[in-house]
Amino acid sequence: MEKIILLAIDGLSWNIIEELKAKKQLKNIEEITNNGVSAVLRAEGFLSSPKIFCSIFTGKKVEKHGIRDFYSKEEDLSSKQIWDILHEKGYKIGVYRPLSVWSAKKFDGFCIPSPMLLEKSTYPEELHFIGDLDKMARSEKYSLTFLIKIFWKLFKFQFSIKGLFKIIKRSISLSFKNSLEERMYLLKEIELIIHTNLYYKLLKKYKTHFTVFFDYSFDTLSHIYWRSMDEKSKYFDVLPNAYKIIDIFIGKVKSFAEKNNYHLFICSDHGFEELETKKRRNFRTINVLYLLRELKFYYDVYGIYMTQTVVFRMRPNSSRPLTDFKRAIESIKCEGKQLFNIRPTSKKLIVRINDFFGDNRNFKVELPNGKKLNLDEIIDFNPAHTGDHSENYGVFMIQGSRIKKGKKIEDITPYDITPTILSLFGEPIPPEMDGRVLTEIFDS
Ligand SMILES: [Zn+2]
Repeated sequence: MEKIILLAIDGLSWNIIEELKAKKQLKNIEEITNNGVSAVLRAEGFLSSPKIFCSIFTGKKVEKHGIRDFYSKEEDLSSKQIWDILHEKGYKIGVYRPLSVWSAKKFDGFCIPSPMLLEKSTYPEELHFIGDLDKMARSEKYSLTFLIKIFWKLFKFQFSIKGLFKIIKRSISLSFKNSLEERMYLLKEIELIIHTNLYYKLLKKYKTHFTVFFDYSFDTLSHIYWRSMDEKSKYFDVLPNAYKIIDIFIGKVKSFAEKNNYHLFICSDHGFEELETKKRRNFRTINVLYLLRELKFYYDVYGIYMTQTVVFRMRPNSSRPLTDFKRAIESIKCEGKQLFNIRPTSKKLIVRINDFFGDNRNFKVELPNGKKLNLDEIIDFNPAHTGDHSENYGVFMIQGSRIKKGKKIEDITPYDITPTILSLFGEPIPPEMDGRVLTEIFDS
């Protein structure tokens, strides 16, 4: 029976790949482009990762699958994704953290839902700690207790000593860093090392027919550190290092795929390019988890933040009314002014920072209980993004026994991946899919 691995890497970009390939720093990715087929994956319209990935996983345009952005919910999904289709046909499935899975499914294999969720379900039960890692990483900012818990879990899961050593090294540096720019690349490298290693273990253990791995570190890193490709910057090696970590992982997955006769797909949703200087501006974000803890709503409310606006919703198991939370947010004052602008709807609260404070991060904030804080405890002052999503450098690569060698093909769309996977499995392509089978990649 056919077997397929799909590595979905958010924001992986051809321009950096080409640059590092030229310096012989991406040995494994280079081998795949030499031994398989590659192309630019070109998405259309607004380049929102959840939207494009859902198109990749369904073979359909956004009007048919319903997932537009990070605020989308499980109820919005109006189409089957590739793992559901294959599962119904009896294939063994392994799903690792794609954005468009909200609750674990009982596959004959494994299922770990979206890394963005605080609510975590995982299947089977013994893998629950992987979901917990995301949850803890988002809520505890890698405190010492968190790291001790992680090490213990990873150790029990027979994580490699070398991998653990790399994590410890970065964790120690992390404890001396404060600003987002100083911390973020260490956090993302830790996540990359943890998740690539855990997934590789699951790959070997479960021997699935179809499995997908999802990572979104490259997106965050490329937004923040793009300018730093310039060798004078102290962060110039952040992106190259992340690419080297993923190249090592790809090398391991590639040898596994070759030994066990899998077809290996690698794709991103979009590439990156430099954000025009005139569009760059510093931005502020709400430190959501800290705010919820200070207001004592940590277990009742969750907030999704991507921009200066945060959408808050009550957790399903909370019995407190949303209006209590609204009142608490409304009464937060900074230098006598209301710190947040609020737009309530029946089920959610859309909260925007009332940005009158400029760079005065030491302004005092007064909470409803009278407690006083510095502004920068509640608001993160972030440097401007330097990298921007680009439709020109999205990645697609494939290698396997039925695939041509060393061929570059014309640009493909996100909708083409699911039909091509179905075709490799010899399954029918539902007529409502918007993509096509990439017949030109097959060795006849
Ligand atoms: Zn993306």
